[in-house]
Amino acid sequence: KRSGRSHEEILRLRKELLLPNLSISYDRPIKFVRGEGAWLIDDRGRAYLDCFNNVCHIGHAHPAVVEAMARQASTLNTNTRYLHDNIVAYAERLTATMPKELAVAGFVNSGSEANGLALRLMRAYTGRENAIVIDWAYHGTTQELIEISAYKFRRKGGKGQKPHVHVATVPDSYHAPADWPIEEHGKRFAESVADLIAAMKARDEAPGFFLAESIPSVAGQVFLPDGYLKEVYRMVREAGGVCIADEVQVGFGRVGSHWWAFETQGVVPDIVTTGKPIGNGHPVAAVITTREIASSFNNGMEFFNTFGGNPVSCAVGLAVLDVIEGEDLRRNALEIGNYLITAFRAMQERYEVIGDVRGLGLFLGIELVADRRTKAPATEIARAVSNGARQRGVLMGTEGPHDNVLKMRPPMIFSKRDADHLIAVLDETFIAVLERAG
Ligand code: PMP
Repeated sequence: KRSGRSHEEILRLRKELLLPNLSISYDRPIKFVRGEGAWLIDDRGRAYLDCFNNVCHIGHAHPAVVEAMARQASTLNTNTRYLHDNIVAYAERLTATMPKELAVAGFVNSGSEANGLALRLMRAYTGRENAIVIDWAYHGTTQELIEISAYKFRRKGGKGQKPHVHVATVPDSYHAPADWPIEEHGKRFAESVADLIAAMKARDEAPGFFLAESIPSVAGQVFLPDGYLKEVYRMVREAGGVCIADEVQVGFGRVGSHWWAFETQGVVPDIVTTGKPIGNGHPVAAVITTREIASSFNNGMEFFNTFGGNPVSCAVGLAVLDVIEGEDLRRNALEIGNYLITAFRAMQERYEVIGDVRGLGLFLGIELVADRRTKAPATEIARAVSNGARQRGVLMGTEGPHDNVLKMRPPMIFSKRDADHLIAVLDETFIAVLERAG
């Protein structure tokens, strides 16, 4: 028996009661009624393997998180103007996952708020406004963040590029000019940032900040070439700007090898923003910065956030950290990620349409191309594979400027059995889709 309102009724009520530009995944929407571990259960009782939603970092409805949340919620929830153990315990534990320079935390409730706070810190420290961002990036839903997110301001409904916004080329090695030696990709792509700084300088201006995801996600699961952030950070700092790493999607152990994806580039940002996974679904987000930048923010104006850092949110954050550390989930992410990448590379040998397989830990992308030489996007096939996987009970997404990159971010608890299931379904789906495509 199905539970609650029918799909049709919910669709009608959404239309009537909610902002009309909320989107819905898939042509035939799914109504989930329960989540458990890596699995989501729909209103027909069908289970789907969730390889897409990177918020349920340690699995849906994790009992340790639910228990910590319920215990604290039934005891006390207030704001940060009263003393409480949880906020300092959480700040201690969260900053301990970062390089020692990043020692001061600010707590908020969403990735957008974290990036907004990062920009306030940046302004306090530099007194500047000029932004350098990477093309096709998304950093949040507020007006000021839409204005620095090329993914939004350049597309339908966007208002175009504001004068303080400077957009660097996506450092996408797979699409780099063929005559660039691979070992120079980092430096060559960084030249795009050098050009932006030079153009500012010519107008007697300078960058306030460089903000980038440590693995550009919306741009298509793009892994930065070696040396890229080192080079860019050096140039931005030389010009007096600060370097901000948006780890909202990619951070918190997902890459397995490290806690934070910027570490894979051997750099230490001045400000790190994090959100989605750290509360495992409960709204928790944070900004971590240096003492120096934090001090410059202390200009007489109070920093207050009604919900940020409350005892319940911090209890949740601590519980998530306990599970990742206690169950060694970073190692699991790396092992299962490597296992998946090996399997995807084997598929690449069988299916001409797989142009590139990219991943680290459980942050994975498979770029589909109509022609391996021209790398022309196989957008329709990517969509068909994502839909076909859904029909077979596996959730993934598509991403990138041409929507031709299969995107996967399974939870950190993903088991070898889950991985084998994903591989089998993906393989079966490729065979079916390619057969149909002729
Ligand atoms: N930064 C990145 C990289 C994101 O992917 C997102 C959300 N998609 C945000 C910031 C904004 O986070 P939120 O939706 O929690 O405000």
